[in-house]
Amino acid sequence: MAIPIPSRQLFINGDWAEPLLKKRIPIINPTTEEIIGDIPAATAEDVDVAVQAARSALTRNKGKDWAFASGAVRAKYLRAIATKIKERKPVLAKLETVDCGKPLSESEADMDDVIGCFEYYADLAEGLDAKQKAPISLPMKTFKSYVIKEPIGVVALIVPWNYPLLMATWKVAPALAAGCAAILKPSELASVTCLELGEVCREVDLPAGVLNILPGLGPEAGASLASHPHVDKISFTGSTVTAVKIMTAAAQRVKPVTLELGGKGPIVVFEDVDIDKAVEWTIFGCFYTNGQICSATSRLIVHYEKVMNFISNAKSEGATILYGGNRPKHLKKGFFVEPTIITDVTTSMQIWREEVFGPVLCVKTFTTEEEAIELANDTHYGLGGAVVSKDRERCDRVSKLLQNGAVWVNCSQPCFCQAPFGGTKWSGFGRELGEWYLPKLQLFFSDNYYLNYLEYPVTEYVSDEQWGWYQPPKQ
Ligand code: NAD
Repeated sequence: MAIPIPSRQLFINGDWAEPLLKKRIPIINPTTEEIIGDIPAATAEDVDVAVQAARSALTRNKGKDWAFASGAVRAKYLRAIATKIKERKPVLAKLETVDCGKPLSESEADMDDVIGCFEYYADLAEGLDAKQKAPISLPMKTFKSYVIKEPIGVVALIVPWNYPLLMATWKVAPALAAGCAAILKPSELASVTCLELGEVCREVDLPAGVLNILPGLGPEAGASLASHPHVDKISFTGSTVTAVKIMTAAAQRVKPVTLELGGKGPIVVFEDVDIDKAVEWTIFGCFYTNGQICSATSRLIVHYEKVMNFISNAKSEGATILYGGNRPKHLKKGFFVEPTIITDVTTSMQIWREEVFGPVLCVKTFTTEEEAIELANDTHYGLGGAVVSKDRERCDRVSKLLQNGAVWVNCSQPCFCQAPFGGTKWSGFGRELGEWYLPKLQLFFSDNYYLNYLEYPVTEYVSDEQWGWYQPPKQ
């Protein structure tokens, strides 16, 4: 796919700015392995300038331009951003595909989610005004008390490469809705569409400094942000290894963090399922986005004699299921690997325990429900988990016992910006998305309700129709 890659600089204080040390990073198209452009690389020097710009954006005109403007004012900008992204969707989707290697149809779906997320937080920003000064009932009439919701300040948003613009949007949209000023640090492996967001912000005249976009290397741009004394909060999505570094840096300044990390999700499939549907959800749950999804259900835990049925049935239905883990023979260039299924796995193997972040499904069988749950929870991670069965009560029972931040019933992966999202155990803490997390202000405001109890969404597929991700092969 040939598409010109715009040449951009850092986006600081509402305009493009060359990195102070003039560093750039090449962009490699993962399909062809060719260098197709480059991105600016911020260092600590640029981070200082951007943090200063963000602080000024909060206090300009005594905060009336942004932080203390009405939610309706901020909503106007969020909606304008959504409209501009809609106009640019075809180009943005192509840029996403050449930059991070996912199929074009998936990049297009990502752009729809990006638009929907900005619109959703525009609605919530509008609703915030009515929620200000919520009264607190006190036992003494001589006092009155109420709650003020205030943005937490300057937030650093550090995101990974697998959903570049979407992961950025999950953080940028609620941060701006809340009235924060943000510094977005996209992944050095995929920053192109995040930089285009800068151009969109220019076009809608977002007040200068409210959103700054600083691509760069993790240990340089990312680490400087995480340890910066004038950043008030860090919201991070990425690997658990990096999260430990960020949390360590943040701890030195007692800085709050939200961590959205990796996973090694289970999908528990019982014997009573509709085999076609179960096969499709199992494959979708592991191989969507090339298997590079944090919440991928990459451990199939299945009632025993069904394993071969699953594989042979899916093959006969035209799904691409290959044993192998080899590079596809017909592709001479590009970072490709065949979809891979691994059986005869023991729970001590690396493949069972560690996040592959690729199209690899490992399969274990079970005989009892208790054993299935034990296998499902046999991981340090706790992001997404799924149960597939026609028995509704069993689904309820199992979904309560899965140790995951999100549970799917008779499906895997569908994720909506209206519902909270986040992990437990090594998959992180704090929640993104959903209306609870804006009005309760966990993410970008200053209180922390989420620490008191665990909230997680259970998302059930209730249609009688096949999901339809796989189309029958053409005759
Ligand atoms: P990564 O941890 O390597 O990098 C993520 C971001 O952190 C990048 O922007 C990187 O530059 C930055 N970074 C690296 N070192 C840093 C440091 N020392 N200080 C500050 N920032 C630093 O992750 P990745 O390879 O880009 O993404 C894949 C990982 O992300 C997987 O583990 C996946 O499961 C996870 N992920 C989680 C979610 C979720 O919502 N839970 C969503 C998508 C991806």
